[in-house]
Amino acid sequence: MSNEHTPRRGVLLIVASPSGAGKTSLCRRLMADHGRLELSVSMTTRGIRPGEVADRDYHFVSDAEFQRLIDEDAFLEWADVHGNRYGSPRAPIDRALAEGRDVLFDIDWQGARDIAVKCPEDAVRVFILPPSLEELRRRLVTRSQDAEDVIERRIQNAKGEIEHCGDFDYVFVNDDFDRSYAELAHIYHAERSRRRRNLWVDSYTAALLKEVV
Ligand code: GDP
Ligand code: ADP
Ligand code: 5GP
Repeated sequence: MSNEHTPRRGVLLIVASPSGAGKTSLCRRLMADHGRLELSVSMTTRGIRPGEVADRDYHFVSDAEFQRLIDEDAFLEWADVHGNRYGSPRAPIDRALAEGRDVLFDIDWQGARDIAVKCPEDAVRVFILPPSLEELRRRLVTRSQDAEDVIERRIQNAKGEIEHCGDFDYVFVNDDFDRSYAELAHIYHAERSRRRRNLWVDSYTAALLKEVV
């Protein structure tokens, strides 16, 4: 193959959902199972929750610092979500793609839309639905990391967010966690295997093609 040294094209796997539907749990497990998948660690102006680790879960920054980064064009996308600002830093994403690695995003529907517009060849959008709004509330309350008014606001916002699920490439309900995780992993594996990403992927495939073509 003439292009066997071309680096493979990475997948930008974007997972969105209303708060509490389970995307962070699903994304963490996908990261744990795939060593070469890179998580895009977002910047946020929201306060740190108990149990969160700075620079692992988010880069926590002030409003002023966030604005400075917008002005420097440091984000691939950013959005206002539930009264705070969140953004995906551009530099680590560019680095991962240049090295042919895949990047996972745990972001909201606005960020998913913006990345799909900017990177139409590489973005794959997955929307996770809760089984019901009642179950969504139960999960947010059980997670017990947000104040009551914050939970109320997130449930109110969930209805508007769910309306956008039709714009996504894949949509499924996170009812049974293991079944839902299998669904997400299957989507990731199928997207990795797409011919346009994979023709030149590894030396084994390249050597085999050389033999048979
Ligand atoms: P958080 O957003 O920082 O709370 O982190 P996660 O959303 O990833 O979830 C943290 C907790 O949820 C851990 O104790 C997990 O074991 C638990 N958890 C993850 N998946 C499930 C599930 O399917 N069902 C239940 N009941 N708990 C789960
Ligand atoms: P998100 O990142 O979408 O806000 P989380 O991953 O934080 O959601 O999940 C919200 C809560 O629901 C967490 O306490 C998590 O453990 C729980 N959870 C996630 N998936 C399931 C599931 N399939 N069944 C029951 N509880 C779940
Ligand atoms: P939480 O405060 O629960 O961690 O996140 C609130 C919402 O913001 C979630 O929908 C989450 O996916 C989204 N979010 C987190 N990081 C980003 C980001 O970098 N960009 C965008 N657009 N949304 C984000």
